Amino acid sequence: MYFKDFDNYSYGTYYGPDRIIPLDEVKTIGWLENGHDYPKGVVDEQTLYYLRELIVTQRAAEISYRGYHYCDFCERQSSNLDEHPKVKLGSQERSLGCAEFWLPSLTAPGTFYSAPNLIYHYIVDHGYRPPDEFLEAVYRFPFNLQWSASSTRQQLVEKHRQRIRDEEQNK
Ligand SMILES: [Zn+2]
Repeated sequence: MYFKDFDNYSYGTYYGPDRIIPLDEVKTIGWLENGHDYPKGVVDEQTLYYLRELIVTQRAAEISYRGYHYCDFCERQSSNLDEHPKVKLGSQERSLGCAEFWLPSLTAPGTFYSAPNLIYHYIVDHGYRPPDEFLEAVYRFPFNLQWSASSTRQQLVEKHRQRIRDEEQNK
C-alpha cells in the first residue's frame, strides 16, 4: 500500500462500501512502495533507538493489520515469519509488517502521523529518511501517555461519517 508522505490517511477508512474517507487529522509517513522515489539520508542513533522502543513496547500506539505486509524492495517475499525484517530491543523482538503505529504531532495538537512499522526496516536497510517533524515526534514520543491509537482512529472515522451524514441530510 503506497501513500506519499503527508497524504491524508485513508487506509481502510470507509463510509459505506465504496466511499473512502481521508482523515485530514492524520498524515501518512513511510508508506513506501517500489516504483516511487523516496527521500534518503541518515537518521541519528538516538532517534532510531526510540523508534525501536516505540515499535517493540508501545502496543497502545499500534494498529494491527489482518495479514502481513511485505517489504516491496527486498526480493524475497516469504510468508515465513522468521524471514520477516525484525527489530530487537534487549531480549524483546518484533517482526515487522504486521502493524502500523500512530504518533501525536508536536506541531499541530489533535493531529497524528501514521507509519507502518516496516518504516524501521526502510530506514535501516533502504536508506529512507522520514521528514524532520516525524523524527522529532519519535524523539519526543510521550512513552507514558495513556491512549489507544485504535480508539483514536475509530473516533476520527466516526466523526467524519457523522459529518458526511449531516452534509447529506442538509442537501
Ligand atoms: Zn526491504
